[in-house]
Amino acid sequence: MFKMKNLVLLGPPGAGKGTLSAMLREESSLPHISTGDIFRVEINKGSELGKKAEEYVNKGQLVPDEIVAEMTGSRLEEKDCADGFILDGFPRTVRQAELLEKELIKTNRKLDLVIYFKAEKDLLIKRLTARLTCKSCGINFNKIFARPRKEGICDECGGELFQRPDDSYETAVNRLKVYEEQTSPLIAFYEDKKLLSEINAGLPKEESYTALLKVLK
Ligand SMILES: [Zn+2]
Repeated sequence: MFKMKNLVLLGPPGAGKGTLSAMLREESSLPHISTGDIFRVEINKGSELGKKAEEYVNKGQLVPDEIVAEMTGSRLEEKDCADGFILDGFPRTVRQAELLEKELIKTNRKLDLVIYFKAEKDLLIKRLTARLTCKSCGINFNKIFARPRKEGICDECGGELFQRPDDSYETAVNRLKVYEEQTSPLIAFYEDKKLLSEINAGLPKEESYTALLKVLK
């Protein structure tokens, strides 16, 4: 098991947080918690918080930080988080980080480590725009990392491959801009608290994963 247990994953879109944390899940029992999952659970349960959140979601508005933090806090109080957790995609802003701190204090806990997945912007854009999806079966390929055997054709079902609108260049640039403005201030925030550990996410995934395991031990 790892020494570091209460974890936050931080990094720009395209840094491979999702891939690396999926690899981590195979050898650690720490629950992996993303805000999307929390939203779905609370809304399905029909809890008070879930209902509040749903109102914003239905109007196409951002759910306020206070509600997200409270939902995250109540998720972290569940049994499976008693020995630790991996938070992915939250906090996204300094304000959310401050609220998270308060939520953790309620149960006498604090973060052990914030892992910052760092990669150059050019590489991030390359990764974000290289995805191809099969029209028939939905499987993903990648023009750079996982090319189909035959160009434009799905290996699995022979379906046609296409680029989803959210994988376009404009969307990638925009997602990185939002990250830069809203989320990147968290790097200095957690550095000040001596919680930040940086991983080179520009490497092939096996190498980044080895680096990740090193900081957790
Ligand atoms: Zn297919």
